[in-house]
Amino acid sequence: MYDVSKIREDFPILSRTVYGKPLIYLDNAATTQKPRQVVESISDEYYSVNANVHRGVHFLSQQATELHEGSRETVRRFINARSVSEVVFTRGTTESINLVASSFAGGLMKPGDEVIVSVMEHHSNIVPWQLQAERFGIVLKVIPMDEKGELLLDEYEKLFSERTRLVSVTHVSNVLGTVNPVKRMIGMAHAKGVPVLIDGAQSIPHIPVDVQELDADFYVFSGHKIYGPTGIGVLYGKEKWLDRLPPYQGGGEMIQKVTFEKTTFNELPFKFEAGTPDYIGSTALAKALDYVSAIGMEQIAEYEHGLTRYAMSRMKEIKGMRIFGEAEQKSGVISFLVGNIHHFDMGTLLDRLGIAVRTGHHCAEPLMHRLGIEGTVRASFALYNTKEEIDTLVSGIERVSRMFC
Ligand code: PLP
Repeated sequence: MYDVSKIREDFPILSRTVYGKPLIYLDNAATTQKPRQVVESISDEYYSVNANVHRGVHFLSQQATELHEGSRETVRRFINARSVSEVVFTRGTTESINLVASSFAGGLMKPGDEVIVSVMEHHSNIVPWQLQAERFGIVLKVIPMDEKGELLLDEYEKLFSERTRLVSVTHVSNVLGTVNPVKRMIGMAHAKGVPVLIDGAQSIPHIPVDVQELDADFYVFSGHKIYGPTGIGVLYGKEKWLDRLPPYQGGGEMIQKVTFEKTTFNELPFKFEAGTPDYIGSTALAKALDYVSAIGMEQIAEYEHGLTRYAMSRMKEIKGMRIFGEAEQKSGVISFLVGNIHHFDMGTLLDRLGIAVRTGHHCAEPLMHRLGIEGTVRASFALYNTKEEIDTLVSGIERVSRMFC
C-alpha cells in the first residue's frame, strides 16, 4: 500500500505555509524536498564522524571512508552497475556531462568527429559539447521531435555517419516529460559501434533504472533531484570507457605517483575524483536512495503515473489550456500556457496561492525555439504530491485565468 500521508510526514517542509496558505510544492523537476533521514544524516555525520576520507590511519578517517565507500556501493546497487569502479562521484549531472565531454573530446575525438544530441536537451547537455566543439572542432547533430514531443527515430538513424563518436541524450525531458526510448536508441547506436551517454537527471527519481539492462555506456544524475543533498551526483561509466578516458581534473586522490617529470593516475573510479570528495553528501545521497528503495521505485513510478494522468485530464478541462508534451510515455512534468497569459504572471499569481511552480525556458532554449514560445509554466510532481494538491493547482489556474478575462 502506497501511504502518501505517511510519506509526507518525513518531509517537514511540506507542512509549512507560504503567504498564509499551505505550501503546494510542484517544482520537483528543479529540486526535490528532503526527508528527515537525509537531513539528519548530514548533521549526524558532521557531529560524530567527520574526518577526511581515504588517507587517514585514524579511527574517524577510516569510519568516514567506510561510509563514503559504502555509499558508492549503495549507488552501484541502485542503478545495478557491475562494479563500484564504474561509479564516480561528481557535483551533479552538469559536472558529470562536462567530465565526459571534456575527457571524451580531448582524449578520443578528432576535428570533424560528431556527437548526436536531441532537440529536447537541457543546456547542460548542449553547452559542454559546444565548448568542446570550439576547442576541438567537433560537430553537434540534433535529433528532431514531432508535435507530441517524441523523438523521431528515423531521423535519428539518419544522423549517424562514420564520424559519429558519441550519442548524448536525456532519458526524460525536463520540459515535456517525454520518457525517451533510450534502450532502443542505445541499441541503434551500438549497432553502429557508437557509445551512448544518458542524462538521467529527470528519470532517476521517477522510474527504476538498470544501467546494465539499458546497456548505457554512461549514465549521469544529480543527488538533489532524488531527495538527496545538493552538490553531489553520479557519473556511471562502463569500465572499458572510463579506462580509456583521460582524467578530467588533476589534484589529490586521483594520482598514483607524482614526480615533476611524470604523474601516474589512480585506479577507477578515483582517477576522476580529484580533491576531497563530498563524503558527507555521499552518505546523505545513499540515505536518499535507501529511502526511495524502501518505498520501491516501481511503486513510486506507478503512483506518480496515476498523478500525472489525473493532472493531465483535469488540466485539459481548463479553458484556453495548451499543454506542451503529450508523448505516450510521459513522466510527471506538465508544461503549459493558458490563453495569452504570460508564464511569469501565471507563476507569480499561483505563488500567491501557495503553489510553487516554475516559469521560463527551463534551461532548454533550443526546445523553446522548436515550440515557437519563450517559456512555459511547469508543474512537476514527486512521490509526496497528492490529487488534492492537483485539484488546488487546477482551481488556482482557473482563478488566475479569470483575472485576465
Ligand atoms: N539535465 C536535465 C534533463 C535536467 O533537468 C537538469 C536540471 O534541471 C540537468 C541536466 C542539470 O542538473 P544539475 O543542475 O543538477 O546539474
